[in-house]
Amino acid sequence: MPELPEVEFAATRLREAVTGRVIARIEVLHPSPRRHLPLAACRAAAGLVIARVERRAKIQLIHLADGSVLEVHFRMTGDWAFSRIGDPPPRFERVRIETTDGVCVSLVDSRAFGLVRRHAPGALVLPPIGPEPLTDAFAVAAFHTALARRRGPIKPALLDQKLVAGVGNIYASEALWEARISPTAPANALSRARVERLRDAIRLVLERAPRERYYARDGEPGDDEWRVYGRDGAGCRRCTGTVTRLAQAGRSTFYCGRCQRR
Ligand SMILES: [Zn+2]
Repeated sequence: MPELPEVEFAATRLREAVTGRVIARIEVLHPSPRRHLPLAACRAAAGLVIARVERRAKIQLIHLADGSVLEVHFRMTGDWAFSRIGDPPPRFERVRIETTDGVCVSLVDSRAFGLVRRHAPGALVLPPIGPEPLTDAFAVAAFHTALARRRGPIKPALLDQKLVAGVGNIYASEALWEARISPTAPANALSRARVERLRDAIRLVLERAPRERYYARDGEPGDDEWRVYGRDGAGCRRCTGTVTRLAQAGRSTFYCGRCQRR
């Protein structure tokens, strides 16, 4: 599943490719995205200038000049492919956006769970989303206060988008390992110093993430990229402990029980 760094990379490429261009047509090539982007919505977007591309958490927002918005979620396997009109279509093309000057942006998505939806001007309402982790808005004091109100262990809390935007399952495990905090530690019992270490660890793992992964074509990235994720049974990369897998709230968590403390 694309995580925040991949979505940020994709949104940046999209922004560079389409900002200021005019949509000539939008074509939906698979029944699944058609449920959210019917023909009328495609027609309503034609002829409009793409004013800007925004990312909030893992949601991409394509703002059009009339105030309407195309909301895009990659979900499991989505990505953008860029070409020129007339080039052979990319594999797994599900939605195609063509501009009047020949640029073609395709949502490629092998499993076709990705979503594109059009919102009429003024109609976009996003769910509550916490601060972006790589901005100053992700402050230690507010993070500590928010965690102090949480019941339950820290790992599932990190996946809550209301707490911090866009930290996915892989990076939650990786950040907790960097911060030497057990995923089972109660969220509301973490000291301010440990919360600060966790905040810094979240930034670290997101910043060092490769910006481009071919998850849409070659499956998941190799497990050897990760410090703990997917490495259950292997040796910890920091101590003599062994990485353990744990199911928390239905998601896999990986951690070292020796150097990650509750
Ligand atoms: Zn360890």
